[in-house]
Amino acid sequence: MPLPTRAGLDAVPAYRQGRSAPAGASKLSSNESPHPPLASVVQAVRDRLDGINRYPDMSAAALRERLAERYGVDASEVTVGAGSVEIASQLIHAVAGDGDEVIFAWRSFEAYPSLVRIAGATPVPVPLDADHGHDLDAMLAAITPRTRLIFVCNPNNPTGTVVGAEELERFVSAVPHDVLVVIDEAYVHFDRTESRGAGIELFRRHPHVAVLHTFSKAYGLAGLRIGYAIAPAAVAENQRKVAVPFGVTDLAQVAALASLDAEDELATRIDDVVAQRDRLHAVLTAAGWPAVRSQANFVWVPSADRTAELEGLLQEGGVIARAFAGEGIRISSGSAEDIDRVEAALAASAPLAV
Ligand code: PMP
Repeated sequence: MPLPTRAGLDAVPAYRQGRSAPAGASKLSSNESPHPPLASVVQAVRDRLDGINRYPDMSAAALRERLAERYGVDASEVTVGAGSVEIASQLIHAVAGDGDEVIFAWRSFEAYPSLVRIAGATPVPVPLDADHGHDLDAMLAAITPRTRLIFVCNPNNPTGTVVGAEELERFVSAVPHDVLVVIDEAYVHFDRTESRGAGIELFRRHPHVAVLHTFSKAYGLAGLRIGYAIAPAAVAENQRKVAVPFGVTDLAQVAALASLDAEDELATRIDDVVAQRDRLHAVLTAAGWPAVRSQANFVWVPSADRTAELEGLLQEGGVIARAFAGEGIRISSGSAEDIDRVEAALAASAPLAV
């Protein structure tokens, strides 16, 4: 007898983690922070270890209150999850089910199509424009009576492009109010354009906007799994219904609070990542690769049929990046030493015109 499987699951690929790196190599495959955790954050987690015989506070009350205060919203509009990927999943499950449609740009965050399918809904990927950015007109044109949610990944993973604040405002205004627009700002802290922070402003002005943030990237807590959404209270209420109970540990909650206490220290680190990102772009361009200007903590190289070649070069130089076969490579912004390595690896190749 075959074991039971859920119908339709064959079409869902398991999430593929960025490749791990052998000892001594530069791991630039998962958009993590290259910096070790802050001492104050490690201390807060240590102090909390004594309580792990108890379940965590499922409502994450202290953290939600703190975030609500910070953004001038109500705590009922803040939801916390095991990484922003879990929040993305909650949002989909909260608004979409069998036969409903969820629109997103493509290529974008790899989890979107899988999460949509797992909810029984239909993914509607809309190709990026020629500049590797969101094609908002095409996304508007893709709306049907079955559309329930639209993701706008800003900055976009893996291309690092941003949608400007005004353009986003026009888009949100044109989307019917029975469709939730989720602005995924996982990389917003690295954005040095006027679009930075646009999501929260749109949330204030429009009833059908939610914003996703994470502690994984700029705050350096990827290993603890914690992210949050600012969402309309009715949507947040439904998110709580579909969330896996006790998904967010107390350790993650105290680490997030300690990180919010250390934002000045973190800002210096973020500036460093941004500087290395821009250097990475310059290094790639100088070596003849078609790097796209990025506002995130990585750089996209649409290397097309030379992707395997670039991946090989980087690997030989001790750099593990994230390759999308036949499309391109995403290289995370690492430490200065990591980018030195990229530079040395590319110097091993003759300049190219791709
Ligand atoms: N959104 C985007 C655009 C991402 O790239 C990622 C991580 N790669 C996430 C959300 C999820 O991150 P996390 O679950 O660690 O918060």
